[in-house]
Amino acid sequence: NYFGEFNLKNDVISALTKIGFTKPTPVQAKLIPDILQGKDVVGQSQTGSGKTHTFLIPIFNALKADVEATQVVVTTPSRELAAQITRAARQMSDAMGYEKVSIAEYVGGTDKQRQLRQLSKHQAQIVIGTPGRIRDLVALKALRLTSVSTLVVDEADMTLDMGFLNDIDYIAGAMPEQLQTLVFSATMPEKLKPFLKKYLDNPHFEEI
Ligand code: AMP
Repeated sequence: NYFGEFNLKNDVISALTKIGFTKPTPVQAKLIPDILQGKDVVGQSQTGSGKTHTFLIPIFNALKADVEATQVVVTTPSRELAAQITRAARQMSDAMGYEKVSIAEYVGGTDKQRQLRQLSKHQAQIVIGTPGRIRDLVALKALRLTSVSTLVVDEADMTLDMGFLNDIDYIAGAMPEQLQTLVFSATMPEKLKPFLKKYLDNPHFEEI
């Protein structure tokens, strides 16, 4: 398994074997080593490049399974993409044999009251969702982001187009200063640059 060349935990490597991934895609090969080192990255790559696992693999590698607080937030502008990322995350979690890893999906158009009730009892370790709903749950002081170490902004260009960057600003403002930020975008419009400048610290930029 070529993933063995990365500095990954054995559990993660064997989970990838179980899933049927034997070698990293180009975007994974370029960015996973830096993400593992804690660096901020910007990946300009299309859907189909393997970008979801570019962030999921290091996320699962770093996840503290015994810490019951939200450690990772992944935002994506569309509900379909959120569902896709959630499926991939659950598959990784299952393949790792993690019974305890909790993953929550928060998107618009779903039952907010139910989410509020759930959040009053339990904070998921990995939160995946659309910016508006995540913002709402944070604003209502239901979702707590003070233990987050990694923020992933997927489809940043579409997030900008749909006017959701201010929601990301709000969400990021509820996270610790010391934050690893990973941004993925199919295109790199000028209007995205101030956002990248604000949140990314000397990022590794990769266009694939
Ligand atoms: P994505 O670009 O994240 O939407 O991924 C596109 C497809 O590639 C998904 O079906 C993934 O499950 C698959 N995939 C991601 N990484 C790998 C890999 N290293 N080896 C084989 N398939 C992969």
